Amino acid sequence: MMSSLPPPGRKTLPARGRPWNELHEALSALRSADTDWRHGRDSLEVYYAGEDVLDVARRAYTMFISENARAPQFPSLQRMQDDLIDISLSLLGGGPRACGTITCGGAESALLAVRSAYRSFRARRPQVRRPHLLVPSSVHPVYEQAAEMMGLELIRVAIGGDYRASVQTLSQCIEAETMMIVASAPSLPFGAIDPIEALGRIACEREVWLHVDACIGGFLAPHVTRSAAGVPRFDLAVPGVRSLAADLHKFGYAANGVSVLLYADADDHTHQAFEYDQWPKGLWRSQTLSGTLAGGAVAAAWAVMHYLGESGYRSLAQRVMHLRDRYLEGIDRIGGLHVLGQPDLSVIAFGSDEFDIHAVGDTMQARGWHISRLSTPAALHMTVTPVHDQAVEAYLDDLARCVHQYR
Ligand SMILES: *Cc1c(COP(=O)(O)O)cnc(C)c1O
Repeated sequence: MMSSLPPPGRKTLPARGRPWNELHEALSALRSADTDWRHGRDSLEVYYAGEDVLDVARRAYTMFISENARAPQFPSLQRMQDDLIDISLSLLGGGPRACGTITCGGAESALLAVRSAYRSFRARRPQVRRPHLLVPSSVHPVYEQAAEMMGLELIRVAIGGDYRASVQTLSQCIEAETMMIVASAPSLPFGAIDPIEALGRIACEREVWLHVDACIGGFLAPHVTRSAAGVPRFDLAVPGVRSLAADLHKFGYAANGVSVLLYADADDHTHQAFEYDQWPKGLWRSQTLSGTLAGGAVAAAWAVMHYLGESGYRSLAQRVMHLRDRYLEGIDRIGGLHVLGQPDLSVIAFGSDEFDIHAVGDTMQARGWHISRLSTPAALHMTVTPVHDQAVEAYLDDLARCVHQYR
């Protein structure tokens, strides 16, 4: 083989290593353009519950930084995963036959849920060549990716005027090829929990697998329901729900890289397994898509859950819901803006019939806010988290100024 020179500009491995103090400096410099997420100026992707929680996560993470949570020689990490699944099942309505798996994120949970539903369907109806996945248009694109990867047809249907999945439209679209319906709790764009109970009834009647994407709400809603009323039911206790995904690295406040996929019935979970033995090392078994799972992420999730406990999560949930209300009241007071639908938890989206809301977003961005937006309908969007209590007033003041400029 001819050796080739790297093209100019391509980074190569340095010939000699450098000491940590130099690297620390270099990393800090690299980081200088990153968002400073401790100050509540981000509207998405930051789940920061305070220095104490972060410190617990960091210490637990570094204790298990070299361990692979899926390797058999670490029973500690197996035990932590079992605990995380048990705790998740108890929070999310798991009955005696329920079980689950720790994954590295919501996307992996989604891909596995689709695969399990597909294998279950194929076992029952092998004659269907291209099964259908039926989803409201508000579900996360990872289900499109799942369909593409597995050669399934995805049918995306319009949501209702309330920004929730339309039970009527979905039920009209069920055909003999329909293997699965996916609904969200809540949806990422609009923050509304889909009508899971009604969808569950249809799923039972028509023998279709109902999967709930509770990546956002899974570890927030259980702590809200007990303090405030009015969060629609969505969990494994709802008849018809076969699987549910919830992200520990979102409102579980864990370090990145950990999510749970739960099943109402252990029989459905069996479809997740993959085994192969025709290679030199004999039997290889996998329950997941990713092989190695960061031991640190599992340990951090376990430690944070036990650090916060029910009371800690409950008070964080109250803070989040109170903050959400402050944003909603503030947005309402400014005038010319309207919130899309009814946010059930902490995700809100708002638009305007009077002016270009994206232009407002651009001006907010120029003022140092990291603005998340929706394209259709045009809206600004955010996930309220505890860190926003430092920023809510400044955000609303700036928003009022920006809106004034465009009105
Ligand atoms: C975050 C999210 C996902 C994807 O999860 P990752 O943890 O980023 O892989 C899927 N669905 C919804 C609704 C989400 O909010």
